[in-house]
Amino acid sequence: MPPPVFRFAPSPNGYLHLGHAYSALLNFDAARRSGGRLLLRIEDIDLTRCRAEFEAAVYEDLGWLGIAWEPPVRRQSEQLADYREALDRLSAQGLVYPSFESRAEIAKGVAEREAKAPWPRDPDGAPLYPGSARLLAPGQRARLLAQGAPSALRLDMAAASARTGALGWVEHGAGPDGEAGVVAARPEAWGDVILARKETPTSYHLSVVLDDALQGVTEVVRGEDLFWSTSVHRLLQQLLGLPAPVYRHHRLVRDRAGRKLSKSTMATGLRELRSQGATPADVRRLVGLP
Ligand code: GLU
Repeated sequence: MPPPVFRFAPSPNGYLHLGHAYSALLNFDAARRSGGRLLLRIEDIDLTRCRAEFEAAVYEDLGWLGIAWEPPVRRQSEQLADYREALDRLSAQGLVYPSFESRAEIAKGVAEREAKAPWPRDPDGAPLYPGSARLLAPGQRARLLAQGAPSALRLDMAAASARTGALGWVEHGAGPDGEAGVVAARPEAWGDVILARKETPTSYHLSVVLDDALQGVTEVVRGEDLFWSTSVHRLLQQLLGLPAPVYRHHRLVRDRAGRKLSKSTMATGLRELRSQGATPADVRRLVGLP
């Protein structure tokens, strides 16, 4: 049996906090315990929010924690050709369409519908995209594309789910409601998700699925806030013919008021803790690890 492959995949859009430390340490410990490998991936496709200084801090903070990873680091911003190729394959299956509405226009359309009847929301609580652009006449679509109208490429979720049939994933952790074992994927709960934007030929869902496969990741250990995203990931893996890792979603580290930590809360930042004299062992203790 080849050794298991784990990964830690932060986005360099802020400094790491205790929640990241917990996730990174779980991956590091699991890799060490199982004789596995730990890879690092920098999820920096959102160039408006990611900064070189935060990326440098990731390496420094992980090093300080005593976490070692196997090079090379995969930086998503350098892999756009891979994502474009995967997107082309989905397009060739007739599962992708461009949508041209702005966020505000979509919100307005949803509000109008919601005034009449309840409108479905995705697992993160955002209203589903109404699918209006899926119904555009081919001529109209071609005209908008030719005019260079800003667009986002969306997955035709009903068509994609019909193509794959029912899917599930192996969960070694637990979901927000204690889901475990083999979990039935529910990609339809997300509606026609965005796979790429005009300025970025990928999205979180597409790049994470492709990168996990290209890096040979066999065990995904990440926060339970991403639990239901796994539905979309399984669907894309199936459509693209990629292997499915096993998943372990872990609890989130919360502040005293029970809120999820954010990159802007200084109190739990690893740099702040370090400057106040905390040691890596203190960090382990703070997040409840031995
Ligand atoms: N980049 C994501 C984050 O920082 C994690 C993605 C994943 O583990 O699948 O929340």
